[in-house]
Parts: sequence; C-alpha cells; structure tokens
Amino acid sequence: MGGLLKIAKRVASGAEVWTKPDAATTRKLENPPTIRQQSANNLQRLADENRPPMPVPKIDAEAIKIHIRDVPDFPKPGIVFKDITPLLANAAAFNAAIELLAAQIAPHAPQGLLAIESRGFIFGAALAQQMKLPLLLLRKPGKLPWHTERISYDLEYGSDALEIHQDAISAGSRYAIVDDVLATGGTAAAAVALIEKLGGHVAVCAFLMELSFLNGRARLPAKIVESLIEY
Ligand code: AMP
Repeated sequence: MGGLLKIAKRVASGAEVWTKPDAATTRKLENPPTIRQQSANNLQRLADENRPPMPVPKIDAEAIKIHIRDVPDFPKPGIVFKDITPLLANAAAFNAAIELLAAQIAPHAPQGLLAIESRGFIFGAALAQQMKLPLLLLRKPGKLPWHTERISYDLEYGSDALEIHQDAISAGSRYAIVDDVLATGGTAAAAVALIEKLGGHVAVCAFLMELSFLNGRARLPAKIVESLIEY
C-alpha cells in the first residue's frame, strides 16, 4: 500500500503537488487509530482541557443535590441508596462540594481528618488536600496492616466494627470525622468513641449528606455535626 500513498503539498508557486509522504506519515495513514484509541485520545484531550486552572462555577449545596442519584432498594429492599458517582463524575460539582465542606469544617479548627471506609475516603482525601491537613483512616476489620484499636457497633441487623492504627491519634489533638452519609449515626458514633478512647478530641463530624428523618444527630453531640445536603 505504501507505494500508492501520496499527500498534497503546497509549493512556493501556490499550486498543490502530490508527493510521497515521509515514513512517519505513511505509518499513520496505514494504521489509522482504532475506535478504542480514538476514544482514549478524546478522553485525554478532555482531561487536558479540564486541567487547572479551571474556573469553579459558583455551585451551592442545593445545586449539588442534582448530582446525587437515588437508587431504590439497594443494597436491600426498603433502602434508598444515595449514589455519589454522578457527583464524582462532574469535576466542577465535586470540586464545589469539597470547597463547601472544607468551609464548614474549617471553623472547628481540626488538626487532622479521620475518614471512614469506604466512601468517606474519597471525601476525606480530597478535603485533606484542600485543607492541607493529615488524613487518617478508620477501616473495616482486618484491613489495616499494623497494630489496631477496634470498636464494634450494632447495625439494624447484626453488627460491624471499625479499626484504626494505634499510633494514628495524638492525645489531646482535635479531629474531624468525615463520611459521605449520616444515616442512623451508628457508624459515626462508634468512630467518635474510638477516637476518644485513644485520647483524641472530635471537633466536628462532617458529612456530604444527612438523612435527617433518621435522626443520626441524636447519637452524636449535636453541635459538632455539619452536613452539606439534607434530606
Ligand atoms: P449509619 O451508621 O446508619 O449512620 O450509616 C452510615 C454509613 O452507611 C455511611 O458510611 C454511609 O456510607 C452508609 N449509608 C447509610 N445509609 C446510606 C444510604 N441511604 N445511601 C448511601 N450510603 C448509606
């Protein structure tokens, strides 16, 4: 096929003449990108175009609600699951959510952020970057590799537990607990108890969403609960 390839080239007179393409152009013409490569290229181009400095549109908390998807009967009948994936997929909205949450947490002057596995990690990590604060992890049992402290707590059916590394907390320091959803408050209350057992002070519990009809605040010291969106 190489011998048949010709490309138009404008010469000094202004006329177009056909010339034999160079080796690199020949390779490109003979091996057009596959659909998969093209969509990868498009994604890369979009990512390049979206890199900072990117103006963050003024989005308020109510507007962020648009990006939360209700999924009925997940993970079991009767639960309306608050799906954050559309929010994460919208760079401007996710960015705004982090900025707004950071603004709610900052007045409580935490010295570290404690993120609850697993969706709390997403918000905790972004907030730690935004607020220039250390990030510490509260994980499901058996996930942390070093010496841990554990707390068990009751769920609607059965029980669960959270663990933290024994050296994660500095006694007397102030911490913010971060998670995506405050529902019954059982998880966050267990997290507070665990931090206090290790001598830490919980300055605030911050959530992207609060399901206020479940009254999770009642299980937490009310004045230290912050949430961006209420249902
Ligand atoms: P709770 O201990 O009842 O406050 O539940 C809080 C934990 O469960 C959080 O880590 C949430 O991620 C998760 N969770 C509870 N209810 C929901 C819901 N409706 N949608 C999404 N996550 C939920």
